[in-house]
Amino acid sequence: MSKGIISKDEDYSQWFNDLVIKADLAEYAPVRGCMIIKPYGYSIWEKMQAALDKMFKDTGHSNAYFPLFIPKSFFSKEASHVDGFAKECAVVTHYRLKNDGEGNIIVDEDAKLEEELIVRPTSETIIWHTYKGWIQSYRDLPILVNQWANVVRWEMRTRLFLRTTEFLWQEGHTAHATAEEAIAETEQMLDVYADFVENWMGVPVVKGRKTANERFAGALDTYCIEALMQDGKALQAGTSHFLGQNFAKAFDVKFSNKEGKLEHVWATSWGVSTRLMGALIMTHSDDAGLVLPPKLAPIQVVAVPIYKHDEELENIRTYIKGLSAELRAKGISIKFDDRDTQRPGFKFAEYELKGVPLRIAIGSRDMQNGTVELARRDTRTKETVIQEGLAAHIEQLLEEIQTNIYQKALNFRAENTVEVDTYDEFKRLLDEKPGFLSAHWDGTPETEQRIKDETKATIRCIPLNNKQEEGKCILTGKPSTQRVLFARAY
Ligand code: AMP
Repeated sequence: MSKGIISKDEDYSQWFNDLVIKADLAEYAPVRGCMIIKPYGYSIWEKMQAALDKMFKDTGHSNAYFPLFIPKSFFSKEASHVDGFAKECAVVTHYRLKNDGEGNIIVDEDAKLEEELIVRPTSETIIWHTYKGWIQSYRDLPILVNQWANVVRWEMRTRLFLRTTEFLWQEGHTAHATAEEAIAETEQMLDVYADFVENWMGVPVVKGRKTANERFAGALDTYCIEALMQDGKALQAGTSHFLGQNFAKAFDVKFSNKEGKLEHVWATSWGVSTRLMGALIMTHSDDAGLVLPPKLAPIQVVAVPIYKHDEELENIRTYIKGLSAELRAKGISIKFDDRDTQRPGFKFAEYELKGVPLRIAIGSRDMQNGTVELARRDTRTKETVIQEGLAAHIEQLLEEIQTNIYQKALNFRAENTVEVDTYDEFKRLLDEKPGFLSAHWDGTPETEQRIKDETKATIRCIPLNNKQEEGKCILTGKPSTQRVLFARAY
C-alpha cells in the first residue's frame, strides 16, 4: 500500500474506492448510495460534459429542461416501463413537516399530496406528455432534444460513480416521423458515444445490441457500448434506445403526415452518466493513482520548481511564465506549483495520485543548462529535455499519451477477449481469467437466464460487427448462427 491506496492486484474494488477518495474525486454522502462529487472530480465531469454537449449540438440537438417530479399516474401509462422502474422509484408523498410538540420533527399527515410524485428515474413519461402539445404535423418533426440533469434510482447495491442512487447524466429524447429515421438516430448517437469514450476517454468499447432480457424498459431495441475494466469485469458505458411508438401510443402523440393521415410518432432516447467517471478511473489508473487522458485532465501539465533561494525561484518563475503563455496559446493548461509549504517530493506524489499527464521539474542547474526534467504519468518515465521548443514537444507528448493509454487498454481487452466453445471452459475462464467471453448461445431468454444464475455472467451485447458462423450453444448444444459477448459485469 502506498499513499493510502491498496494495490489493485490485492483488492481491485477497494483499490477503486481508495483511489476515488484519495485523489479527491468524491466522497460518501450521509445518505446511502449518494455521493459528493468534489471539485477535482467535478472538473473532469465538466470536461466530459463540454465535449459531449458539443457533439450533441454538432448533430443537431438542443438542450432543454424538464421537471424533477413526475405525477405517479404518468408511469402507469406504459406498461413495461413501469414494470422496469417500479422497484427503484423514490416517491414523494407529503409536502410539509411539523413539530410534534415534544421537539421532534415529523411528517405532517395533513400535508399529504393528492397524487404522489415520482422523483424522475428517467424522463420519457414527462417528456412524451409534453411532446403531445408540441407535435401536430410532420412539419413539427423531428424534435431533437437533450437534457442535462440528475436522476434517482433506488439501487440496492451501490458503488461510487459506477452505480449510485442519485446520478448525473444527460438524456436525449427525440421524436421522428418514421421508424427508419428513429433507428438512424439511435445508431448515430451510439456512434457519438463510442467516438467520445474512445477518443476522449481513451477507453475502447464494443458496440452492440442488448438481448431482450437486458433491454431498457419500454424499448424495442437497446444499443450499448461495453467496456472492459482492468479486473476483467465489463461495464456498460452508454445506451441508445429505439423506443418505437410505445411512448407515443401511451401518451397519444400523433402527427398528420404529408398525406394528411394521422400516425403515431417514433421515438428514441439515449444516455450516459457519471458512471463514465468510473470507467475512466478503472480503465487506466494504477497503484500510484489516477492516470488521466490529456484531453480530459483538469491540469495537463504541472511545473514544480526546485530551489534553495528566492532569487532562483524568481528565475524559474519568469521562465515558466513564458512557457505557460506558449502552452496556453496551444490550448494546453499548466499549473505552476510554487507552494513553499510542501517539498517537491510530496508534490510529485500528489500529482501522480491526481493523474496529471505531464510533470515538469525545474531546478537551478536546469536553468543554467537550459533544460527541464519531464515525467510522463502514463509510463512513469523521465527525460531531460532542452527548453528550446519545449511547448511543441509537450504538445506532441500529450497526443502521444492520449494514444498510448488507449492502445494499452485496447491491448488489455484483446488479451482478455477469448472465444469459448464449451460450458466447462466458459466457467473455468470466468474464475481463472475473467474478461469478455465470446460464445455461441441458442438465442432464448431461458438459456441466458440459466447461464446468469449459474455463473453470474451476462450477455453484455450482440456485437454490431458480428460475423455469422455456425455453432452450438455452450449450454444447450442447440444450433446458433453467431457468437455473443458474455462477461461478469458491474
Ligand atoms: P438507462 O436509462 O438505464 O439506459 O441508463 C442510461 C445510462 O445511465 C447508462 O449509460 C447507464 O450506464 C447509466 N446508469 C444507469 N444506472 C446508473 C446508476 N445507478 N448510476 C450511474 N449510472 C447509471
